[in-house]
Amino acid sequence: MPVDKNTIHSSDTIYDTFIVGAGISGIAAAIKLKKEGYHHFKIIEKAKRVGGTWRENTYPGCGCDVPSSLYSYSFAPSSKWSRLFALQPEILEYLEDVSDKFNITPLIEFENELEQAAWDDTRHLWVMDTSKGQYLARTVIFATGPITESQIPNLPGLETFKGETFHSARWNHDIDLTGKRVAVVGTGASAIQFIPQIQPKVKSLVVFQRTAPWVLPKPDLQLGTKGKMLMDKLPVIQSTWRKAVAGSLNVINFGLRNPSVLEPVSTAVKQLLKVQIKDKALREAVTPDFTLGCKRILFANNYYPALQASNTQLIPHGMTRIEGNTVISANGERHEVDVIIWGTGFNVSHPPIGRKVIDAKGQRIADLWKKTSPEAYLGATLRDVPNAFLVLGPNVLVYDSFIGLAETQLDYIIDGLKLIKSKSISKLTIKPEVLEAHNQKVQKHLKGTVFNAGGCRSYYLDENGRNFAAWPWSLATLKKRLSHFNMADYDVVIQSSNKAGKKAA
Ligand SMILES: Cc1cc2nc3c(=O)[nH]c(=O)nc-3n(C[C@H](O)[C@H](O)[C@H](O)COP(=O)(O)OP(=O)(O)OC[C@H]3O[C@@H](n4cnc5c(N)ncnc54)[C@H](O)[C@@H]3O)c2cc1C
Repeated sequence: MPVDKNTIHSSDTIYDTFIVGAGISGIAAAIKLKKEGYHHFKIIEKAKRVGGTWRENTYPGCGCDVPSSLYSYSFAPSSKWSRLFALQPEILEYLEDVSDKFNITPLIEFENELEQAAWDDTRHLWVMDTSKGQYLARTVIFATGPITESQIPNLPGLETFKGETFHSARWNHDIDLTGKRVAVVGTGASAIQFIPQIQPKVKSLVVFQRTAPWVLPKPDLQLGTKGKMLMDKLPVIQSTWRKAVAGSLNVINFGLRNPSVLEPVSTAVKQLLKVQIKDKALREAVTPDFTLGCKRILFANNYYPALQASNTQLIPHGMTRIEGNTVISANGERHEVDVIIWGTGFNVSHPPIGRKVIDAKGQRIADLWKKTSPEAYLGATLRDVPNAFLVLGPNVLVYDSFIGLAETQLDYIIDGLKLIKSKSISKLTIKPEVLEAHNQKVQKHLKGTVFNAGGCRSYYLDENGRNFAAWPWSLATLKKRLSHFNMADYDVVIQSSNKAGKKAA
């Protein structure tokens, strides 16, 4: 039965925890809460199905670039992957299976969007206004995603374009690209996956590249029935493989913090380019001019062949202007096209959740993030935002599986929730001095890493050049820091019959 938007649920119930979002992070949050014996929580999802990133991104060739053995939950290994690096339909199916298997799906209220979450500092409660009504909760987990808002450049003349345009994250499957003249803008992680898929069917393909990415061979492999059976019967193979993959990513991470370590790899990749691309001009155009790892390292075996196809032309410049059906690059080249596909990535420095949250001082978080990108404590807790936790928030990105990162953070968050409950805490807020000291240290240590010093402009940096995304130390250090919820980092108010509560010593 449809729920009236104005239904007030608050009079009925006060949830212990409210989870917003049912992507990888929200599903894991619900599973972990259940495992800890928490049942009085609510989970809402604005879409009709679980999956987040893997529900939204359906472009041809979409898949993970971390092997699936690691890009899967530690508590739910799968022997079904048909490749070492699974494609989007399989990842989505996996997330639906896990959500069903752990009985999370029935708990999710779908098509319910959080519109505003405001902290009520008198009652020490979150007031959650959603598209299906209002709810109250003592604590909140915002699992709303780090890479969600697609970014389209506002090019002069865009409104004069008569053809079709769409972003890779909103792929328009109704448009048949067969025989069409197509422009792709951008050569990032999504573009290098879909370009090889569309190139054989289009009439002509013009690829606008502002910055040449590092593209390494992808050690991908199809897994036959025997391989899958082995994985199923001998889980030790899978766990060993998972550990091996994690180990090799750790080596990459070490290199990102110590860029000189990756120099031999860069040299080898440049040598390989000579074999992969015969045409000298094209080879020069796709040779990166920044240190390996400064932007996310990309993996593909079919990207360079697609660029060398007779119907493809790489323009080593950005698209700057559009006049009717003519697209114009920074060097003045003009091309007639029927379709423009934006492979221009996402706005990650100002996550949309900031527009929905009102802090304890009555300020909208997005207003505070206007001048600078967000900062948090261990990517999870925000200044003046009590009893609330962000998953995959600022400065926890290490070169690894986001699923593993989310799980690690959730273990920390759930430890916090347990303490809130066991110690009858009504308000828990990160101490401003702890937050500041942490972020000063993070920013200081990021200076020497390849993300800041590698000579590129990546999405790790906001418009002021501040790195809001990366964790400057190892994954082991991140795990260690998140392994213990230190109450001394937080200001707490203990619940009392007196509404104002009492400040803990
Ligand atoms: C194309 C692409 C490929 C990627 N490949 C990899 C990879 O190979 N390896 C890797 O580690 N990472 C990869 N990532 C990063 C990826 O975002 C994370 O791995 C992961 O999917 C994040 O999961 P999440 O649950 O935190 O967020 P999301 O997947 O974004 O899920 C958030 C959920 O919250 C819901 N939501 C948001 N706002 C609201 C609201 N106001 N009310 C209700 N519901 C809301 C959304 O609908 C969504 O379902 C990739 C990202 C993209 C875009």
